Amino acid sequence: MNDKRIVIVGGGPAGIMAAIAAGTKSSNVILFEKNSSLGKKLLMTGKGRCNLTNACDLESFLQRFSKNGQFLRDSFKIMFNGQLVKFFEDRGLKMKVERQKRVFPVTDRACSVLRILENELKKNKVKIVTDSDIKSVLVKDGCVSEVFSKNDMAFKCDSLILATGGVSYKNTGSNGEGIRIAEELGHKIVPLRAGLVPLIVKQKYIKSLEGLSLKNIRLIFTAGKKKIISDVGEMIFTKNGVSGPLVLTLSSSIVDFLKDGADVVCSVDLKPALSKEQLSKRFLKDVSEHPKKSIKGILKDYLPQRLICTFLDLLKIPHEEKISNINKKVREDLLNMFKNFSFDIERGESVDLGMITQGGVSLKDVSPKTLGSRIVKGLYFAGEMLDIDADTGGFNLQAAFSTGFLAGVSAAL
Ligand SMILES: Cc1cc2nc3c(=O)[nH]c(=O)nc-3n(C[C@H](O)[C@H](O)[C@H](O)COP(=O)(O)OP(=O)(O)OC[C@H]3O[C@@H](n4cnc5c(N)ncnc54)[C@H](O)[C@@H]3O)c2cc1C
Repeated sequence: MNDKRIVIVGGGPAGIMAAIAAGTKSSNVILFEKNSSLGKKLLMTGKGRCNLTNACDLESFLQRFSKNGQFLRDSFKIMFNGQLVKFFEDRGLKMKVERQKRVFPVTDRACSVLRILENELKKNKVKIVTDSDIKSVLVKDGCVSEVFSKNDMAFKCDSLILATGGVSYKNTGSNGEGIRIAEELGHKIVPLRAGLVPLIVKQKYIKSLEGLSLKNIRLIFTAGKKKIISDVGEMIFTKNGVSGPLVLTLSSSIVDFLKDGADVVCSVDLKPALSKEQLSKRFLKDVSEHPKKSIKGILKDYLPQRLICTFLDLLKIPHEEKISNINKKVREDLLNMFKNFSFDIERGESVDLGMITQGGVSLKDVSPKTLGSRIVKGLYFAGEMLDIDADTGGFNLQAAFSTGFLAGVSAAL
């Protein structure tokens, strides 16, 4: 145990884990958080259940980062999913693995995760200062020397870890202050954009589908003739667009196209397991077996009610029209919509509504082995403020905890 003065700014998962790791090596660790309590965003994760990590193997894990995943190899060497789960289980909080290998606490409550972390901070005698907004850092002879809070309190430090998060969900406290400080200290900042963000649709009829969720559908995003990305999964219509796990995951690839002014089209294949020919055969069989049924009645076996109404309205077909009165051309138009229900994407929601921030402190200015700055001695970075972001599924929290742990150990040595 040494008495190196280690200051950590930001009481989210990255900052808390950094303080815990530093606290095992130094008796002089202080954690500043601008809110009146720690982990405000952590408590919102996984809809309050906290998808802590993902149980997939290292290579699959790294692939879930939009880019820059390789930077995390050293952080994951020191703390990967197994160690993180063990950390909590050793302290009495069991974990469970759900679909797609997502790991949650058995309590289904993010507050049980936060409680364990707070106990550990206490055990390691970390001094916690809440309601303290750090606004600047003094560097002397190329080394960190002091931090200053908004109310002009000064705190000396031998090492400083910035773990202030990105810029999404600003009401949780992460408003980009730490990224601004890093920039002032000479670090390059990769432009901040929304990641995992709902998309806004141009067509106004989308409002009539609000709340409708679709499972096992394929989404295909195109810009002109170029296919951007496509995958199968689950989506939900919002009051002005689309969201849900599949949309959020694919959105990270879409926002850059939208930023560059491309006309992005989203097309939903409602029956990805069936070819158009198979679908057509099945539909024709139904039509010939039930000639007296209304078109709405026939479609019930194929589509959710609200989508039927939207399709019939778009094709201007009276809802109670007998199926035998529908001509071949209209029938084909309908089947086309099953396989290719398309609308235009106007833009992504604002960065504040992204679940994660893309961009941040450039990794070129940070050593992956220690997470130390290559510009200022004694300065370390952890968590979402780095230019790292991943898919949903527990990947972002693992990155925050692992980088926090590595930064904490490095800062204390
Ligand atoms: C709604 C939602 C749900 C999510 N669910 C999941 C999930 O289930 N699984 C998953 O892996 N990821 C999830 N994420 C992403 C995950 O929450 C973040 O990646 C993670 O919280 C980042 O941790 P962090 O410690 O880097 O930053 P943050 O959690 O943002 O913490 C940063 C802290 O620093 C403080 N701070 C900022 N500036 C200052 C300053 N100047 N002085 C003092 N304190 C400061 C802030 O108040 C904040 O408490 C979710 C995100 C959102 C928005």
